[in-house]
Amino acid sequence: MVLSQLGGSISRALAQMANATVVDDRALTECLNEITRALVRSDVQIGAVCAMTSSVRRAVNLEALAAGTNKRRIIQQAVFAELCNMLDPGKPSFAPTKGKPNVVMFVGLQGSGKTTTCTKYARYHQGKGFKPSLVCADTFRAGAFDQLKQNATKAKIPYYGSYMESDPVKIAVEGVERFRKENSDLIIVDTSGRHKQEAALIEEMRQVAEATKPDLVIFVMDGSIGQAAFDQAQAFKQSASVGAVIVTKLDGHAKGGGALSAVAATKSPVIFIGTGEHLEDFEVFDVRPFVSRLLGMGDLSGLVNKIKDAMPADQQPEFLQKLTEGTFTLRLFYELFQNLLNTGPIGQILSMLPGFRSELMPKGHEKESQAKIKRYMTIMDSMTDAELDSTNPKLMSASRIIRIARGSGRAVKDVTDMLEEYKKMAKVCSKFKTAIPNKLDSLRRNTNM
Ligand code: GDP
Repeated sequence: MVLSQLGGSISRALAQMANATVVDDRALTECLNEITRALVRSDVQIGAVCAMTSSVRRAVNLEALAAGTNKRRIIQQAVFAELCNMLDPGKPSFAPTKGKPNVVMFVGLQGSGKTTTCTKYARYHQGKGFKPSLVCADTFRAGAFDQLKQNATKAKIPYYGSYMESDPVKIAVEGVERFRKENSDLIIVDTSGRHKQEAALIEEMRQVAEATKPDLVIFVMDGSIGQAAFDQAQAFKQSASVGAVIVTKLDGHAKGGGALSAVAATKSPVIFIGTGEHLEDFEVFDVRPFVSRLLGMGDLSGLVNKIKDAMPADQQPEFLQKLTEGTFTLRLFYELFQNLLNTGPIGQILSMLPGFRSELMPKGHEKESQAKIKRYMTIMDSMTDAELDSTNPKLMSASRIIRIARGSGRAVKDVTDMLEEYKKMAKVCSKFKTAIPNKLDSLRRNTNM
């Protein structure tokens, strides 16, 4: 089962339980059975699933709950907490700091997405103000240097490599030296992969690491391998002092639940996930927001970060202030989409809004979502200022709706659909009132406002 379906199945199981007339042991058992089936179909190891459901049972203990307690909420919170536990390795990874020459070495099997991920990682940090550089120490695969060069050029990141030299250690040392001199503060070394773990690969990784003394070794793993991820992550961890993992190919069709939970079981922190072949298909992996998005509960901090990426710094506090005021007008709905459309894959962004669960959608669905948003914006373009600024959606009479439909060249149903989505969003955004102010304070501090 793919990740987006996994999230849907778990949410449905929880919703069914919430609809049950009484929340008793039977309703809980049915709900947990449904969640177990969903996780197993997603390739999560059965032992981990049983441990998770037993923990939920222990945490809930229906008999001991006082009358009047909201059992549904307690069960939902326990499922959320235990899913987080299952994916949490329990320790953070080393994070590079600006201004000093951090060396980060990438290891992994051939075809896992290592070279692509090096550039994604470099580009991500470039966006955060680092001066990254790329060294191609993969002399095993013909074409590896060309690929890195091409990616690096696209992302405007300096690179180093050689067509002639066959000693990966020599290239790695030369590259790291050169970029140290050039004051790069994030020197990324891409190493060779092999089709399978073998002594020669391990030895080469060891030698490159010994010569370049990396601050962090990142293991890149193909996320579609499911439970086999445990053995692979464990083997690399032991042989190359892996400090963090990036799981790739978690786009729509991957059974990513298995890989993510297996890596967590090796106690290695997953720091990013790759969700496609393009450079922007790359996301920070944080357990709680990830689970929250998986279950369609939104990711407020992710959304605020996207707003920070998308908007000029001086406009951010004002926009977030408007979101917190609790009067979510259609104009704000419009501005939200207008700003977020510029920031990258829309699926990623939509999934951060509570009520959407599309970050791990197949790409076709992502296009549909994007088209839908553009349609909404066209409809809103045909509204008057009074309509856009109204805080009372009931003002939207049938005759107004027909006028807006005509003006925007859309069907009446499109307009009513858009208004329905707006109302849902307004309801959810009323919760921002309490959740965003803390974020807002930190933004103000960061932008000296
Ligand atoms: P390497 O041999 O480990 O260096 O792997 P490459 O970087 O050459 O990637 C192998 C293939 O996987 C290429 O076709 C990449 O475009 C593709 N790839 C890498 N990351 C992802 C990802 O997150 N999702 C998808 N769908 N493809 C990816």
